[in-house]
Amino acid sequence: MKITRIAVYKADLPLEHPYWLSGGRLKFEVLDATFVRIDTDVGLSGWGEGTPWGHTYVAAHGPGIRAGIETMAPFVLNLDPRKVLDVERAMDLALPGHLHAKAPIDMACWDIAGQSAGLPISDLMGGGSRTPAPIASSVGAKTIGDTRDVMNRYRERGYVAHSVKIGGDVDLDVARIRDVETHRGPNEVILYDANRGWTRQQALRVMQATEDLRVMFEQPCETLDDIAAIRPLHSAPVSVDESLVTLQDATRIARDGLAEVFGIKLNRVGGLTKAARIRDVALAHGIDMFIMATGGSVLADAEALHLAATIPDAHRLAVWACQDMLTKDIARGQGPRNRDGHLHFPESPGLGVHPDEAALGEPVAVYGPT
Ligand code: MG
Repeated sequence: MKITRIAVYKADLPLEHPYWLSGGRLKFEVLDATFVRIDTDVGLSGWGEGTPWGHTYVAAHGPGIRAGIETMAPFVLNLDPRKVLDVERAMDLALPGHLHAKAPIDMACWDIAGQSAGLPISDLMGGGSRTPAPIASSVGAKTIGDTRDVMNRYRERGYVAHSVKIGGDVDLDVARIRDVETHRGPNEVILYDANRGWTRQQALRVMQATEDLRVMFEQPCETLDDIAAIRPLHSAPVSVDESLVTLQDATRIARDGLAEVFGIKLNRVGGLTKAARIRDVALAHGIDMFIMATGGSVLADAEALHLAATIPDAHRLAVWACQDMLTKDIARGQGPRNRDGHLHFPESPGLGVHPDEAALGEPVAVYGPT
């Protein structure tokens, strides 16, 4: 089997509510999504998606993804898409770094490999749990009262995992955390996500002031160096997401004991092939995981769920469903959907979801014979 054609589509995915990132970064209202369709000489086609969470969150940019694919496409054409390591190697040789551009191609290859084997991707990766995966809420409220209200609305919909966004005013962050802990439900997973919003001393003030609560913080500071520097000065469990990009990051965090949890975002780390290695580092070191897309449609959520399913239930804390934050659905009725705050495993071969091509319009680029 060989890849004969790579078609690239651009789609705007509007957010239901505008999103403000902390630290004065730009507000955004639309996600710039790239969809990739890979065709083969045996008639199988696979789909991938690359949708950054805006372009001010981390180093990822919709036009950059499409430019990266243009550079890599000649090196990927004619390869066997089932040999994902060969495709990964070709992409890494053609364009070092640029992991966000590689993820959609990797995803489409896994989709084809799964369809070819007649297996969902996670089964092809070695086997997948059918336990519905809890979806983490995204609680962006700023006041104590609003935080309570938003969390309770999620709870009414069945959510048992919550990502409470903090990282603004230090005293208010402490007050909000203390209040949330008074209404924490039994067996709830609650993560306080600072999204790199604190300096070292701001992080320490909050983490030390809430030490008695033993709550978990995600990405309290900008870099791994920051997180390492404050580590001896607090006792809170830590999750790292934005600073977990490469396998070397994962091994450093594990070796130096910098975190108890990995937040693995597939698009950020370069797709399933690379994410699976980071998963294995986590499992080998007793590190739990959140698995999610950086953003995007049900395709991106489906990919994340396939990886999450390959993790033993006890080590997979939650996934995310960005699809719920969008007003446009490019694969209506397909793929894993939010039922009672959980995503349910898609049993179809491959990714188990493909976009409605009429909704995507004409491709913005086609590589290979047209
Ligand atoms: Mg986070």
